[in-house]
Amino acid sequence: MSDTIRFDLPQSDIPHQWYNIQADLPRPLPPVLHPGTHQPVGPDDLAPLFPMQLIMQEVSQDKYLDIPEEVREIYKLWRPTPLLRARRLEKALDTPAHIYYKYEGASPSGSHKLNTATAQAYYNKQEGIMGLTTETGAGQWGTALAQACSFFDMECIVYMVKISYQQKPYRRSMMQTFGASVTPSPSNTTNAGRAILERDPDSTGSLGIAISEAVEAAATSGGKYKYALGSVLNHVLMHQTVIGQECLKQMELAGEYPDVVVGPTGGGSNFAGIMLPFLERNLNAGKQVRFLAVEPAACPSLTRGKYVYDFGDTGGMTPLVKMYTLGHDFVPAPLHAGGLRYHGMASIICELWDQNLIEAQAVAQLETFEAALTFARAEGIVPAPEAAHGIAGAIHEANAAKEAGEKRVILFNLCGHGHFDMSAYDAYLAGELEDYEYPAAAIEAAMANIPVVG
Ligand SMILES: *Cc1c(COP(=O)(O)O)cnc(C)c1O
Repeated sequence: MSDTIRFDLPQSDIPHQWYNIQADLPRPLPPVLHPGTHQPVGPDDLAPLFPMQLIMQEVSQDKYLDIPEEVREIYKLWRPTPLLRARRLEKALDTPAHIYYKYEGASPSGSHKLNTATAQAYYNKQEGIMGLTTETGAGQWGTALAQACSFFDMECIVYMVKISYQQKPYRRSMMQTFGASVTPSPSNTTNAGRAILERDPDSTGSLGIAISEAVEAAATSGGKYKYALGSVLNHVLMHQTVIGQECLKQMELAGEYPDVVVGPTGGGSNFAGIMLPFLERNLNAGKQVRFLAVEPAACPSLTRGKYVYDFGDTGGMTPLVKMYTLGHDFVPAPLHAGGLRYHGMASIICELWDQNLIEAQAVAQLETFEAALTFARAEGIVPAPEAAHGIAGAIHEANAAKEAGEKRVILFNLCGHGHFDMSAYDAYLAGELEDYEYPAAAIEAAMANIPVVG
């Protein structure tokens, strides 16, 4: 048993329910506000963008929500995902720590995103929606939604951040393989895109701009299309809790319990997915696990942002959400971890951070790629640059354990593989990558445009 390194569950152990942290939060989430009136939004305000079932999930206070059987059937294509003990990494680091990783890159789209894409496509299909609009940065979310839409025979319209569109042509091909239409953003197909291009014809885009375009495309479609978001929202984080629920069982198979659970954070969904079921045990069963969110130093929303109401997009079309934000018109450095370049953070993660229930750490780009190579050479998987932030955090923990001379059990989320990110690896291996600190003056400038909410 002790030399087992892979802990697999039978398909009967795919969770039957999603876990909803809202039932267990010490205080309720701050309300989401209408961008015009600054009053709390109701279900009807959100109905043009989302199907009612997802709107109800967004505000549900039920502790567990049933996973529809049709969604669970599709989960069987890749779930349960494996949990591995990284013995070769432990050896490479010469650490007494035990390091485990959950491998969400085993999904057909290559990341955890398909867990929520499948659920979102299902509920939209139930409501008779023809297709979904969305944005994608690195292309992981667009790929997942393209696949999910093809499972349910729906159209998929993707606005892809222009710099990624140029850097990652094969992500685009993959989305098109599943029938999606892909437009580089900013584009001249929407008012939001045209406004940006007028000011800055050479704009390389950002997630915030692409969100504006995708939201506008759904809102002006006369009910034909709705909009899907790959992270940040409560229902998205909830769908990802299949990850942590499986981990609870797999750690039991391994005969250990984590001391610390680590994940990279862009909008917060993969980190939430792995840690929320363990937080439930902290809150209700006396466990004392630490949780570590790892973000890029170039886009440090948790560690350097402010906890205020801000727009989710650049154009100011979305409701106002209280979150740790760098400002909705923040345009991040051309960092290779495209999935971590969002200006804000999930409300749930922000509340946990504000209440000191989680820890957060920012890591620089070069250290991240160094961690990625150390991991790849030990364990044989090339991680997505986003996922490598989590690896860097896990390595910090392993080194700290070594310094303290203690056995520490570390669990991290290997949320995606990097097979479509090899141009980033090329740049790193050629010595062409650099570290970007986010300058304090830029924070102040972006903060000046945050809406004032009374
Ligand atoms: C989208 C993505 C992220 C960032 O989003 P989260 O919601 O924070 O998980 C991180 N890693 C990968 C592989 C992704 O695809």
